Amino acid sequence: MAIQPSAALKRIGTSATIAMTQKARDMKARGEDVIALSAGQPDFDTPLHIREAAFEAMQRGETRYPPVAGIPELREAIAAKFARENGLDYRPEETIVCTGGKQVIANALLATLNPGDEVVIPVPGWVSYAQLTEFCGAKPVLVPTGPDTGYKLTAEALDAAITPKTRWLIFNNPCNPTGVVYSRAELADLCGVLLRHPQVMILTDDMYEHLRYDQVEFVTFVAVEPSLRDRTLTMNGVSKSYAMTGWRIGYGGGPRPLIDAMVKLQTQMTSGACSVAQWAAVAALEGPQDYVRASRAAFQKRRDLVVDRLRAMEGLECQMPQGAFYVYPSCGPLIGRKAPSGKVIETDEDFALELLSAAKVAVVHGAAFGVGPNFRVSYAASLDEITEACERMGRFIAALS
Ligand code: GLU
Repeated sequence: MAIQPSAALKRIGTSATIAMTQKARDMKARGEDVIALSAGQPDFDTPLHIREAAFEAMQRGETRYPPVAGIPELREAIAAKFARENGLDYRPEETIVCTGGKQVIANALLATLNPGDEVVIPVPGWVSYAQLTEFCGAKPVLVPTGPDTGYKLTAEALDAAITPKTRWLIFNNPCNPTGVVYSRAELADLCGVLLRHPQVMILTDDMYEHLRYDQVEFVTFVAVEPSLRDRTLTMNGVSKSYAMTGWRIGYGGGPRPLIDAMVKLQTQMTSGACSVAQWAAVAALEGPQDYVRASRAAFQKRRDLVVDRLRAMEGLECQMPQGAFYVYPSCGPLIGRKAPSGKVIETDEDFALELLSAAKVAVVHGAAFGVGPNFRVSYAASLDEITEACERMGRFIAALS
């Protein structure tokens, strides 16, 4: 029998980041020598004390259904983290634990959006924001940013994008894929606009908070403008900060009615996040933070290397990112050239696919993030892998005719 997808499913595509990562994984499994700079995940192991906490939780028998909103110990650890690191005063009941950051976002949108609603999303932006919005039957309003503003959303552009139908602004800081980090003053400008539009809720995705370089400061919306607290969902997770992508623990802090709505949905969808992983997340948030510092130093070195190499390649332009572990070079001059396979590169997706098949380097095409022709390089890989990948990319670009 042919499976008929729902109308909602038909509105979305497969996540481009996940698809590219899987493609590279499949090629590796076939024995191909692929370097994957596609996955947005630290290549480090989860710190030992976190793994031990999970093991101890299993030994204690923490293996049954957890409370749907999260175990009290983790909700308390999240509230304490928000207070300690961000100056935010969420009570544990104003937090939720979900199966990865992605599910925090999905819960919030599914719980609040109706057909016809609009969601403002600065682009380039992470692939799933617009797709999840479409899944809910709402309209993503993409606000392009470019080199002229350093790939940052300006107050003017935000103001122009908001209509009476706008329900959410989805904001990602540090940004995937550009690595842009907003200053306190820039956030204050955006807050000024949001204060004039009380119908707009703010979803701030702070997942890359700890991945910042050059001593740049991190601030989040509610810390800048506390009066936005009642309409802001402050989202974060342990995946990137503690090398815990596979544990699938994301969390959010927000006003009680929003959190309750998300929990209600979660009672039907998952019954809560994995109990053992939640205990691991408690250890991550409350335990020693040495890994955070060490990984930051390692990523900064890798960033410097990859930006240096990419800038040396003809046809690429690359802004220095200050956060996350991505660079987002533009590749406009390479469009129209012919790859070694004979295929003419017409889009940034063609570029990424030809690079993968000819040079065995996996990156994610810019179209998936809403602004191109660009591509996203993840430098969550060893210095040797980055060096080798850049050599291959350089040879591939030099061979384009
Ligand atoms: N967020 C990461 C990325 O952008 C992981 C994959 C995903 O969930 O999109 O690559």
